[in-house]
Amino acid sequence: MNWQRPILTDSGGFQVFSLSTLRKIKEEGVYFSSHIDGKKIFMGPEESMQIQSNLASTIAMAFDECVENPSTHEYSRLSCERTTRWLKRCKAEMTRLNQLETTINKNQMLFGINQGCVYDDLRIEHMKEIAELDMDGFAIGGLAVGEPTEVMYHIIEQVEPFMPKEKPRYLMGVGTPTNIVEAVYRGVDLFDCVMPTRNARHATVFTWKGILHATNAKYQLDDSPLDNECECDTCKNFSKAYIRHLFKANEQLAGRLCVEHNLYFYNTLMEKIREALDTGTFNEFRNKYSPLLATKL
Ligand SMILES: [Zn+2]
Repeated sequence: MNWQRPILTDSGGFQVFSLSTLRKIKEEGVYFSSHIDGKKIFMGPEESMQIQSNLASTIAMAFDECVENPSTHEYSRLSCERTTRWLKRCKAEMTRLNQLETTINKNQMLFGINQGCVYDDLRIEHMKEIAELDMDGFAIGGLAVGEPTEVMYHIIEQVEPFMPKEKPRYLMGVGTPTNIVEAVYRGVDLFDCVMPTRNARHATVFTWKGILHATNAKYQLDDSPLDNECECDTCKNFSKAYIRHLFKANEQLAGRLCVEHNLYFYNTLMEKIREALDTGTFNEFRNKYSPLLATKL
C-alpha cells in the first residue's frame, strides 16, 4: 500500500471473536471457521505474532480474548488469566522474531491489551499484571462494543492510574470526536476507529459545529461547504447541495468526498488537542468542544 508512515496491525483476536462462527477456545489458541468460506483455521499467540511480523508493522497488538458483553464475572476472570498467559507467549515470540535475520522490521513494537469486561476489579487486576511485563505500550480493549458511553469512561478512569506513565496508552475502537476529547481528558494518547470512514460512506459528517447528515433535505440548495472552518479539498471545492445530489444519485464519489473530509477533520482534531495540551489550555478546549462536537445539526 506504499504507506511510508507508522502502521499499526491488530492481532486478529477481536476479529476471531466478532466475525467467526463455530469458534473453540483452548489454552493453545482458537480454532474457528472462516466467515468467508468456512475453512477451518487455528490461530494462537505465536501465529498472530508471525503474521504481524510478516506485515512488518510499526506496532503489533497482542493476541487476546475479547469477551462478549455481557459475560459473567467468573468467565471474564478466567479469560483475563488466559489473556495474560497469551501475552507472555506473544512477547516471547516477538522477541524471537525480532532477532531473526529474515525479519523485515526488527524493531517491531508490541502493545499489551487490558481486558476484564465491565468489572472494575478484573480490569484493575489485569492492568496491574500486564503493566509488570515490559511492553512497548498498553491498550484498553473490549470497550466501544455497545456498552453505554458512561461505562466506558468509568472503566478508563479505573484502569488509568495503573497504566505506566512513560508508555503510550491506546483506547481500541474509539470513537466519536467527543469520545476522543473525553478519553484524552482521562489520560489516553492513541485511538483507532472506522467511524470517520464508515460513517462518511453513510453520509455522516463530523464538523466543528457538530454532526450533520449530508442527505438531509435542508441541504438540497445549500451552496456552502460541509464545514466553513475546514480546509480540506472537499470543503474547498464542493457544496453540501452537490454532495447531497451525489448521495441521492448513488454516486460513489459522495462517500469518497465525505471520507476525505472526515479524515481531515479527525487529523485536525488531534492536532488541536496536542496544541491545547502543549499550551496548557486543554480544559478550556474540552469545555467548549466536548458538547459542541456531539451536537446534531
Ligand atoms: Zn472538510
